[in-house]
Amino acid sequence: MTDVLLRDFRFQDRGVEAISAYSAAEAQAVLASRDDIAVMLLDVVMESDHAGLSLVQVIRQDLSNRRLRIILRTGQPGEAPEREVMLNYDINDYRSKTELTAQKLFTALAGALRSWNDIVTIERLNATLETKVLERTHALAEAQAFSERLVELLPNPLWVKDLAGHYRLYNRAFREFFGVDSKAWLGHSAEEMLGRHLPAEELDSDCRVLDGSSLREEFESQIPDAHGRARTLLVTKAALPADGVVPNGIIGMATDITDRKGLEKELRRLATTDPLTGVCNRRQFTTLAHQELERAHRYDTALAVIMLDVDHFKTINDSWGHASGDEVLRTLTVTMAGELREVDILGRMGGEEFAILLPQTDLAGAWQVAERLRMAIVAMRLPVAEGVLRITASLGVAERQNGETVFDNLLGRADRALYRAKQGGRNQAQCDK
Ligand code: GH3
Ligand code: MG
Ligand code: MG
Repeated sequence: MTDVLLRDFRFQDRGVEAISAYSAAEAQAVLASRDDIAVMLLDVVMESDHAGLSLVQVIRQDLSNRRLRIILRTGQPGEAPEREVMLNYDINDYRSKTELTAQKLFTALAGALRSWNDIVTIERLNATLETKVLERTHALAEAQAFSERLVELLPNPLWVKDLAGHYRLYNRAFREFFGVDSKAWLGHSAEEMLGRHLPAEELDSDCRVLDGSSLREEFESQIPDAHGRARTLLVTKAALPADGVVPNGIIGMATDITDRKGLEKELRRLATTDPLTGVCNRRQFTTLAHQELERAHRYDTALAVIMLDVDHFKTINDSWGHASGDEVLRTLTVTMAGELREVDILGRMGGEEFAILLPQTDLAGAWQVAERLRMAIVAMRLPVAEGVLRITASLGVAERQNGETVFDNLLGRADRALYRAKQGGRNQAQCDK
């Protein structure tokens, strides 16, 4: 009867194929072999009194088929399965056989097919979503592994702190710098772990990146490393997240610039001092002299310069050797420096020729200094192989003239005075006239 009725049934422009099974076992075999069966009209009593209900259990549990719509039919009107059974066995509809007129059968079938369609659609969507979630999870895990590896490999100490200033993360270079065990500092502040206050710059920069007044903080910081050696770090900081939304932490990175700083200092020293005597070289002396002349011009203060040249230095080299000559030049600078003030600038202009800049000193004062220098040089005694070596020097003195701004002119006048001292018989100081 049902077969006959179903021949006329159409749903969404398609007819249905009816498959009959004459026992629960046969139905189970059919259902196990295909998953495109949408609706099952099921009798309760078959091989056994409860064969129908047991089959439902097998379908839902053993076959894991939750889409199949099950309409339970019973030949005994009034003996409807209890609510419990409907719920427990996941049966979707119940009809007594006599109730299943063409109209009712079609209504029940249409409802069941519609919900089967919905379930299939949802299952398909779920499957795509699951694939997408899996792909995304995989990509995220890959990105995370990449950044973790990168952070760990960085040669610079890197760290992340939360809003309370507690470490959330730090890398290998950080652990090596501070001598930290892998996780010992996590959840603690630097103050706690170092047992001392951090420099104000550290804390102030934290505040500035957190309150948004600064996108990036960069400063130099003096910090002792794990071995207690003072290091200079260039620290860079930014708020996390960096997209301008409310920050929940700070990321920081440090570059150890101690060696670079040392090299820069050494380079500066090499570029500005004379390697033999350690006093200013000609270039540095000229640079400083220009600054002093400008200052003296601006404030209208006195400024004097002395040129000094060792007398008959060639003979010293010739008689005692070049090494002794070098030693004379070194002792000479120490002797001269001992006669000068902190503000005076001593420079080696070349060979055995020196210049001395005397700020806030007029010609008379400078001449006195020149005389003092001359006498100190005369008093110098340098032990050499066959006795003691003595030297004399000639000096020329000049002072800044009103409105003078070109240092070479001032130096030229001191040089001319020096020439006159040489002409005058050496071992004397002459003033520019
Ligand atoms: P004068 O009294 O006229 O100045 O005579 P002088 O021999 O000092 O004359 P001059 O300036 O011509 O000679 C300077 C000599 O100084 C020439 C050079 O061999 C020597 N000299 C220049 N630089 C150095 C140096 O760095 N070390 C040594 N040992 N000698 C130097
Ligand atoms: Mg000389
Ligand atoms: Mg000379």
